[in-house]
Amino acid sequence: MSPDCVPVDSNLPTPNFTFNPDAPGACIAGVRPYRIGSYRLEAEQESGKFIVHNYGHGGAGITLSWGCANRVKEIVQSHIGASHGAEVAVLGAGVMGLTAATLLLDLGLRVKIYSDRAVKETTSYKAGGQWAVSVVAFAGKENELKDILKNSYRTFTSEIGMGFGVVERPNYTSSLSENLEAVMTLVPNLLPDRVRLCRLPFEGHTQPGYLYQTLLVEPPAFLSKLEKDLNNRGVTVTHREFTSSSQILTTLTQKIIINCTGFGSRKLWNDAKLVPIKGQLAMLPPQPQLKYLYGQNGYMFPRSDHVVIGGTFESCVNNETPDKAKVKSLVTHIASLFGHAPLRPKPDFHIHHPGNMPMVDPEISSNT
Ligand SMILES: Cc1cc2nc3c(=O)[nH]c(=O)nc-3n(C[C@H](O)[C@H](O)[C@H](O)COP(=O)(O)OP(=O)(O)OC[C@H]3O[C@@H](n4cnc5c(N)ncnc54)[C@H](O)[C@@H]3O)c2cc1C
Repeated sequence: MSPDCVPVDSNLPTPNFTFNPDAPGACIAGVRPYRIGSYRLEAEQESGKFIVHNYGHGGAGITLSWGCANRVKEIVQSHIGASHGAEVAVLGAGVMGLTAATLLLDLGLRVKIYSDRAVKETTSYKAGGQWAVSVVAFAGKENELKDILKNSYRTFTSEIGMGFGVVERPNYTSSLSENLEAVMTLVPNLLPDRVRLCRLPFEGHTQPGYLYQTLLVEPPAFLSKLEKDLNNRGVTVTHREFTSSSQILTTLTQKIIINCTGFGSRKLWNDAKLVPIKGQLAMLPPQPQLKYLYGQNGYMFPRSDHVVIGGTFESCVNNETPDKAKVKSLVTHIASLFGHAPLRPKPDFHIHHPGNMPMVDPEISSNT
């Protein structure tokens, strides 16, 4: 036993890994909008319009949402000065669009949301939901990101128990979690200190590991609550598909446009820095006795709707069709770590991201 670790003498309940990949909704896949260099959060003026871009948050959009929305609000506020009552067009009904719309309403502006997908069909709705800095580049934006993280964390913690799907949870990891270490480096003391354990508190686990405290934000609950609150304030999502930025600028009447189109910005704003990173998830039935997150080359997030097993990263793959065999092998991999399946070599696709700056290949494919 390592001397600098905290002994563990009891075990937590372990998951039931029974999984039928053919059950409806058991396998899902989404595309993380990763932007080489950094996410984009800035204003530009074009054709008499004031456009605020807010996209490219990779695997951390849920995490950063409130902080980015607050920055959008500040940018718009300094643009409009004291005038109120202007109408703003928000493009996108994912987490970035809905949180931005919510805070812009607080400024007294009239808000219209346009999207080619319903909220439930967005990438945001599919996310796992850990509050962590995962697969997002932020070169040169460390100070801005610190403020975003602080604002987001504060907002999410204030929403615990308010119907936004936010809970505080321990996350057990076999090695240091890059995603949570990134938060701790950027904003020391925001999260409680990690604890080094002599072993993880699960049957069959004998190796040292770590205990972090973080938040689990359940995207279906969070997004549904945001949408419902917006509806109650008179804002609904208008179905509209845009084909180019020039079409947006010529057809929308609003002078202020907030662009939260996620990966859609690659085509709309001709942004070749946006790279799709496909992620696949297994959705097991809920198991309310599990009150912790688990991460070891892949992750498990026990939510109230599902136990979510994920953590696959396929760079440059723009395809939202799950591969049932891959998803099943992901479940078997996590089950094997709990001794519920024979230990196997890594599956033949990339589990766990290769750092916050994935190697990218300019060739973007729509195949798995
Ligand atoms: C498998 C997986 C797991 C994840 N897990 C986590 C996690 O645990 N924690 C975390 O913080 N993040 C996680 N993420 C990342 C998170 O989901 C994204 O960062 C986030 O969804 C980005 O939000 P968004 O609003 O920018 O994009 P989206 O949710 O994709 O929304 C974009 C919106 O723009 C609209 N749009 C796009 N193009 C057009 C067009 N041409 N015309 C009209 N409308 C358009 C879309 O319809 C949609 O409404 C995960 C992602 C995946 C795929």
